[in-house]
Amino acid sequence: MVNQYMYGIGSKRSVIREIFEYAKARGAEVGPENVFDFSIGNPNVPAPDCVKEAIIDLMNEPDSTKIHGYTSAQGDLEVRKVIADSVNKRFGCSVVPECIYMTVGAAASVTISASALYEEGDEFLTFVPYFTEYKVFVKTAGADLKVVPTQDKTFQIDIDAFRAAINEHTKGVIINSPNNPSGVVYSEESIKKMCAVLEEKQAEYGKKIFLISDEPYREVVYDGVEVPYLVNYYDNTIICYSYSKALSLPGERIGYILVSPKIENWQDVYFAVCGAGRALGYVCAPSLMQKVIARCEGSTSDVSIYARNRNLLYNALVEYGYECVKPDGAFYLFVKSPSGDSYEFYERGKQHDLLMVPSDDFGVPGYVRVAYCVQTETIERALPSFKKLIDSYRD
Ligand code: PLP
Repeated sequence: MVNQYMYGIGSKRSVIREIFEYAKARGAEVGPENVFDFSIGNPNVPAPDCVKEAIIDLMNEPDSTKIHGYTSAQGDLEVRKVIADSVNKRFGCSVVPECIYMTVGAAASVTISASALYEEGDEFLTFVPYFTEYKVFVKTAGADLKVVPTQDKTFQIDIDAFRAAINEHTKGVIINSPNNPSGVVYSEESIKKMCAVLEEKQAEYGKKIFLISDEPYREVVYDGVEVPYLVNYYDNTIICYSYSKALSLPGERIGYILVSPKIENWQDVYFAVCGAGRALGYVCAPSLMQKVIARCEGSTSDVSIYARNRNLLYNALVEYGYECVKPDGAFYLFVKSPSGDSYEFYERGKQHDLLMVPSDDFGVPGYVRVAYCVQTETIERALPSFKKLIDSYRD
C-alpha cells in the first residue's frame, strides 16, 4: 500500500531522535535538571543580535509581498551576490552568484547534490565516522553509500584506504570537516593528499569524481584552526553550506549549494542542481530567511561558548581516564567505550542519566558521541556522573 523504504525510514526514528525523545520523557519523570542530555546537535548558543535586528527590520518593510513572496527557484539574486562576495573575500576565490543555489540547509544541500549527480550504477563514498543521515540522502538519489576507514584514533583520512575504495562507479565523495561526530578537522596535508588521489583516479577512469563538502560546522572551530576551502584545492567541488550551526538557526532551514565555477561546464552541474531541487519539491528556500542571512553574512554565534564547553568536558574526561580525540571543531566529543562496546557504554551511561549516542550508526563501533552544545552548567553538574561511570568499570 505504501512505499516500504519510506515507511521504514519514517516509522523508525534515528537513534539520535530516539534518545532525544527518551531524555524528554525521563526529564518529566525525574526533573529535567537531573537528566544530562548530550544526544542532539541543537545549538544552545543564541543567534547573534543581527538575526533579530534583520527580522524586525524586514517586518517593517511596507510591502510584505517583497518579503514573503516566492523567490526565484535558485534564490534571490541579491542574496546570492552577498554570499559570492563574502566567499571571494574570505577564501580568495572567484565564485559568481550564478553558481549559488539557496537551500533549506545542509541536509537538503547534500540530498540535492547527490540527486543532481547520480547516474545509473553510481556510488558515493564518505569517511568514517559519518553523519548518519548520509545513507538516507544518498539512497534518495538512488545511489549506494560506501564508507572509507580512517586512521585509528585520529580519524584523519587514511590515504591508502581512500585510494583502495575508489572504483569506476565512484561518482562523488562526501566530506564533512569539522566532522560530526568526531569533531576532527581534516588537516590541509590530508586534504592535499586526498585531492591528489582524486586527480589520479579521475585520470585512471577518464571521468569526473566530485567532492561534496558538507560544511555546517565551518565556523565552529577552536584555537584558530583553519578549515581548507575545497574550491581552492580541487576543481570538481560542490560546497553544501548551512547557517544552522553558524548562526544557531537550525529550525529556520537555510543554507546553500555552491557549484564551483572551476568545474568544466559547471553550468551543467548547476542546472542539474536546479532540476534536483525542483524534482524534490523544494520550490525555493524560505524568502525571509534568505534576506536575513544576507544581512548577517560574516557574523556567527559566540563560538567561544562551545570552546569553553569543549575544554571543560575534554579535560575532565581525559583526567578521569576516558579516551577521546581532542575536537578542533563542531561541538561533539567522540568517546571510546571502556568496554569496547558502544551500546553497553550507552546503557551504562543511561543508568547515570548521561545520555550519549552509541557510535555504530556513525559507521564506527565502540564509541559514543557526546554533544556539548548545552549549557556549561549542565556539563559542570554532569561531571561527577561521568566520573562515577568510568569508575564503575574499575569496580
Ligand atoms: N550535515 C551534518 C554533518 C550535520 O551534522 C547536520 C546536522 O546536524 C546536517 C548535515 C544537517 O544540517 P541542516 O540543519 O543544515 O540541514
